[in-house]
Amino acid sequence: MRIGKFLYYGDFVVIPIVVFVLAALAVGSDWPGGTLEWGASLLFGAALWTLIEYLIHRFAYHHAPVLTSLHEAHHREPTAFVGVPSFFSSGLILVVCYLPLRGVAPIFASGFTSGMMLGYAAYMFVHHATHHLDIQPGHWLYEARLRHMGHHYREGVNFGVSVGFWDRVFGTLAKRRERVADA
Ligand SMILES: [Zn+2]
Ligand SMILES: [Zn+2]
Repeated sequence: MRIGKFLYYGDFVVIPIVVFVLAALAVGSDWPGGTLEWGASLLFGAALWTLIEYLIHRFAYHHAPVLTSLHEAHHREPTAFVGVPSFFSSGLILVVCYLPLRGVAPIFASGFTSGMMLGYAAYMFVHHATHHLDIQPGHWLYEARLRHMGHHYREGVNFGVSVGFWDRVFGTLAKRRERVADA
């Protein structure tokens, strides 16, 4: 779906605010006791996000009926402002991760949801950067750019945008020589 810049960039403003509010709500009631649990839950959420990102991209964006046609628009026009509108994805993470857990384990729910959201924001940033920024060899995002360009030029490889770890685990990482040639 082609979206305006407000919806395209909105998450980068909203997510830090939501994470701050979530942290204040959870840890504020148990300060400083809950801080470590909150931080560990955040790291867990961010790590789990990389797997979710891989699975959504590989199976939903490339195989599910409606999502596939939306994602194909990005493959056709990689630099257009195409994507799921901001607030929808972060709202969905909030509903799916935070609401069911908040009654049972409030600090974990807050940290975990924050980690998922920050992971999602990192994914959005890295994806945007690979298409829009001038990333040359030596840049910290160069590897991510090579990997993602490989995804755009070849079928069935490099579904991980923020990290290549899950492509390595599931055997979908393109060989480096192929990636360099494709980029
Ligand atoms: Zn794709
Ligand atoms: Zn892309």
